[in-house]
Amino acid sequence: MINLLDLDKQQMKAMFPDRPYRGSQVFSWVFGKAVPSIGDMTNLSKALREELSKEYTISYPERLKVQVSNDGTEKHAYRLHDGLVIESVLMPEKSHWSLCVSSQAGCAMGCAFCYTATMGFHRNLEVSEIVSQVLHLQRAYPDRQIRNIVFMGMGEPLLNYGNVVKAIGILTDPEGPQFSKRRITVSTCGIVPGLKTLHQDTEAALAVSLNAPTDEVRQRLMPVTKKYPLAVLMDALRSFGLPNRRRVTIEYVLVRGVNDSIRDARELIRILHGLKVKVNLIPFNPWPGCALEAPDPGAVSAFEDVLKDSPYAVMVRKEKGRDILAACGQLAGSTDSGG
Ligand code: SAH
Repeated sequence: MINLLDLDKQQMKAMFPDRPYRGSQVFSWVFGKAVPSIGDMTNLSKALREELSKEYTISYPERLKVQVSNDGTEKHAYRLHDGLVIESVLMPEKSHWSLCVSSQAGCAMGCAFCYTATMGFHRNLEVSEIVSQVLHLQRAYPDRQIRNIVFMGMGEPLLNYGNVVKAIGILTDPEGPQFSKRRITVSTCGIVPGLKTLHQDTEAALAVSLNAPTDEVRQRLMPVTKKYPLAVLMDALRSFGLPNRRRVTIEYVLVRGVNDSIRDARELIRILHGLKVKVNLIPFNPWPGCALEAPDPGAVSAFEDVLKDSPYAVMVRKEKGRDILAACGQLAGSTDSGG
């Protein structure tokens, strides 16, 4: 059986070589209206629906559980067809919601500050498994407007490049869920080849987890630095070429005594020279068994102050859902979540 949620519009049109418009109709049922079954596609004849059902299906991951933080943040867990568990985080904003989605089950990058790293890498998510994290919540909560989607959940999105690009294409399609391309952000630890082509392939916004101003410190926190040293990463960012007023986001997790000094802040300004970026500071969120520590609030504001004196806009990311391990870097798909 082929899951229709894995197919893009081109592939759906190819299902009906003589009547490609049927492919568009199926696309808008599957992704625009998010119907749960082929039987619901009422502008297709009954005979055609039966014919399609022999080969195709619409299959969502199993919903495991929801945890709600005392700040309103929700962590939604799903079990995939092979038993793996993934998580998405839904965050309330003033008038809408932001959704943080996963792109892989586990992660191979091994960042020292990230809980997901401790589960190791299992596999890339299929297109259906990415898109259904969004569609499922839209269907479950029709009154909530999900406006922003960030690929900041489990996994490194640029190492699942093809499926992430396909998923963004579907999510932004006018006949699909119609998300704005500017309101989808892909966050990467700095996978240079994917970073170079992301904008031309998706027009999505880019966030880069920089987290340290020198290769030496960065290597301690992020082993990927060996493969793509800062000089190479910054060069790639220099040629990223965003349209006029858009900025790349630089994420910087502040870890006590590792990368949170005034000197680090100054060094950061130096390496950002010439880039059109805004800086997002994220105080480290602790998780069970991690030896790293959250920064002193004083160190956070001192770091912020240094950056305020630079050409770059800076903000401290408000931590959300920390009590339910739903904050940045706290997702690990705990399998004891049955029911
Ligand atoms: N692999 C992608 C997306 C997942 S991580 C990436 O590296 O960007 C999303 C963001 O959370 C990254 O900016 C990362 O630096 C940050 N992060 C990870 N663990 C964290 C933790 N324990 N506390 C605070 N931020 C963390």
